[in-house]
Amino acid sequence: MPAYKRIATEEAWSTPEVLKGYEKVLSTKPASWDPGFLSLWGHYLHSPSQRALDLRRRIVDLGAERIADMDASGIDMQLLMLSAPGVQVFDAGTAVSLSVETNNQVAEAIRKHPTRYCGLAAFAPQDPKAAAKELERAVKKLGLKGGLVNSHTMGEYLDDEKFWEIFEAAESLDVPIYIHPQAPPPAMIGPYLPRGLDGAVFGFAAETGLHAMRMVFGGVFDRFPKLKIVLGHLGEGLPFWHFRLDYMHAAIVRSKRYPGAGPLKRKPSDYLKENFWYTTSGMQWQPAILFCQQVLGMERVMYAMDYPYQFAPEEVKVTDDLPISDADKKKLYQGNAEELFGI
Ligand code: CA
Repeated sequence: MPAYKRIATEEAWSTPEVLKGYEKVLSTKPASWDPGFLSLWGHYLHSPSQRALDLRRRIVDLGAERIADMDASGIDMQLLMLSAPGVQVFDAGTAVSLSVETNNQVAEAIRKHPTRYCGLAAFAPQDPKAAAKELERAVKKLGLKGGLVNSHTMGEYLDDEKFWEIFEAAESLDVPIYIHPQAPPPAMIGPYLPRGLDGAVFGFAAETGLHAMRMVFGGVFDRFPKLKIVLGHLGEGLPFWHFRLDYMHAAIVRSKRYPGAGPLKRKPSDYLKENFWYTTSGMQWQPAILFCQQVLGMERVMYAMDYPYQFAPEEVKVTDDLPISDADKKKLYQGNAEELFGI
């Protein structure tokens, strides 16, 4: 038995109601409305491939099969989050009511399996006031551990001040917001599609890294200095970019090149080190994990599997075998998540 619990911190689920909503979007909107959504859920809902069949079955299960899969991988606990794009492709009214309903459902599953599940709250950025309210309800009344946003909402990013009520709520509740990827928006996705690069293979990281950097350059963390953001996939590539982000941001500010990229109180990399936490979802590769621990600190990196999209029990061994101390392994698998999410 290892001297730690394995908490997997980016594990996806969804509901039949949300998937039915996706079917409706697919059948009523033109393909050009959101090619990324069509690529993602057009595939997973309609493909006869084994991967899609397994995904469709596993994603809506919060019962026996999921727990058996966790047991088979040595995962003690999953932090559940509503799979991308969550409620963010629906009209505001539908999105708000579905976020409430899914939060109630995940809270129910957690009540049934309190040692195996914890979860983050979905909310509808389409209605920022309702989103802030739902985040508060989900944390205070349902015991969820923070918020979850599946990156852009119909091409809009949270650095837009109209969304900042959500950050106000997160900061005052002292809970993190996880920015999980989704497909790039219509304005971005064109060149990704022909070579299959729009999804988790690369496009997700490009889009979500952009989202995080828009927030940093947009001064979100000067306005909300205690805001806590979580990124998956080892930070969507950003840890590798610290030096150049700092150098070029300083150059941009000095030259007054962009009205929307003014001076910040800290260096871009400072925000990425002080306001952000990172999970290893889908990135069980020792050099990359060690690099992130070196750059960000042992306290900032948490284990995640990315179930059921990357259900790969054998990958747990990669993390188990990291050449770090047992104490640091415990931080990675357990302690950092317990501390950040209040598990
Ligand atoms: Ca994921």
